[in-house]
Amino acid sequence: MQPQIVLLKEGTDSSQGKPQLVSNINACQSIVDAVRTTLGPRGMDKLIVDARGKATISNDGATIMKLLEIIHPAAKTLVDIAKSQDAEVGDGTTSVVLLAGEFLKQVKPFVEEGVHPRVIIKAIRKALQLCMEKINEMAVQIVEQSKDQQRALLEKCAATAMSSKLIHQQKDFFSRIVVDAVLSLDELLPLNMIGIKKVTGGSLEESQLVSGVAFKKTFSYAGFEMAPKSYDNCKIALLNIELELKAERDNAEIRVDNVKEYQKVVDAEWQILYNKLAKIHESGANVVLSKLPIGDVATQYFADRDIFCAGRVPEEDLKRTMKACGGAVMTTANDIKPNVLGLCEHFEERQVGGERFNLFQGCPNAKTSTLILRGGAEQFLEETERSLHDAIMIVRRTIKHDSVVAGGGAIEMELSKLLRDYSRTIAGKEQLLIAAIAKGLEIIPRQLCDNAGFDATNILNKLRQKHAQGGQWFGVDINKEDISDNYEQCVWEPSIIKINALTAAAEAACMILSVDETIKSPKAGEPPMAGGGMGMGRGMGRPM
Ligand code: ADP
Ligand code: MG
Repeated sequence: MQPQIVLLKEGTDSSQGKPQLVSNINACQSIVDAVRTTLGPRGMDKLIVDARGKATISNDGATIMKLLEIIHPAAKTLVDIAKSQDAEVGDGTTSVVLLAGEFLKQVKPFVEEGVHPRVIIKAIRKALQLCMEKINEMAVQIVEQSKDQQRALLEKCAATAMSSKLIHQQKDFFSRIVVDAVLSLDELLPLNMIGIKKVTGGSLEESQLVSGVAFKKTFSYAGFEMAPKSYDNCKIALLNIELELKAERDNAEIRVDNVKEYQKVVDAEWQILYNKLAKIHESGANVVLSKLPIGDVATQYFADRDIFCAGRVPEEDLKRTMKACGGAVMTTANDIKPNVLGLCEHFEERQVGGERFNLFQGCPNAKTSTLILRGGAEQFLEETERSLHDAIMIVRRTIKHDSVVAGGGAIEMELSKLLRDYSRTIAGKEQLLIAAIAKGLEIIPRQLCDNAGFDATNILNKLRQKHAQGGQWFGVDINKEDISDNYEQCVWEPSIIKINALTAAAEAACMILSVDETIKSPKAGEPPMAGGGMGMGRGMGRPM
């Protein structure tokens, strides 16, 4: 008998060929089943509890996928496309996972019958290319005629993005806020210049948009009450300096043998602090913000001189203030000159629910705004924030690429029809494959119906018929359990979402199809014997 050849490390697990492909597809299917029900305006939410017991309620595909902690190597691809969709366009994260899963499901019978994956991949690529051409041809360019029209368009896109979320009842209210927030930014539309703050309590409608920077009042010492709480034309000193007494004494060991010497040390400490304070005062600042604590002596000192101060300001808020108001964050008190101070037109401290907020408005440098969200439970606010993030991203995208398509499955049905028509013109395996992908696209309207409790078969039949007659914008009407022209109904989505979702889904499907072997190394640190049945046998390599 020949000796066994040991190729891989002990405990390595590998499987290959068709069964591997099919098992990867099945794994993706189970992931898709996990997020399937969240799609669309009537989608359900998921409550996910992590190992530490933190509960998250979400409807957002990317968030759910992230929290699921998937370890299956092939299924992770789906997590990645959801994440990339989230980063790239911000919405359409459930759709992308669903599409990828459905493409795989539709081509699975072909894999099982032994069609070579390369042939399938080629067909998917061809279908994708046809879809891209069609979307670009169909997308309605919104010619920027007037500010009002642009606003109306943006609000509709934001409303469509939010209609599938927990806050869908307040979508009109929030779409106005979101559009205001995005329009207040400068050309580049930097996302980090929109701050979102959450204050539990109150109702959603009490949420407000502050044009400028706002952050929660920081911890403050006695003497704070006396400081003024509102200024016009203020000069802001941004610091990274500790203005507390204790600091110096902690840093050194001092030996003294009489009270007088000790007094000197104490005096010196006070002197150091007072010098710093005096420098800040001399610079002409009337608002002092510091990343580090501002102690009671300093608070009192500033209050006596009509200066507002806040210590322990979170870094991101300080940075945003710096970007918006100009100036620089100083780490020593020596160089505080008027030219490093930030400027803003109006500063005030305002009560929002149970919290006090510091608001800086009329910032000259960068355009920025802050959303202060109100609402019941913590988890609810967090989901609201995620939904608004989706809507904000959508509005930004729409401003950049101002073309839209109709949602509610309309565009998917039209693409499906296109592919079906195309498949009839070609012969061979490709015909069947393209037809399968055409069927796969129908998952979006089908799932929208299923999630709303509609008869999906019936509605899909109506949609197919309508599209065959040339009604290219017909999609699911979620309110009437029927079909409607979703372009007229203003269920609009930026075409970039669909382009990105289809491309990512097709790429993910191709990637999963092109893997025919998984080789898993034993985990580092794990004893080789624990590597599982198959690996063990191979690893032993006993010469016989
Ligand atoms: P995703 O994470 O993919 O954005 P959503 O849960 O937000 O998932 O659902 C988006 C889908 O819901 C899109 O296909 C969109 O066209 C559809 N949709 C949104 N609003 C409506 C509506 N009012 N009527 C019909 N379909 C809608
Ligand atoms: Mg969405």
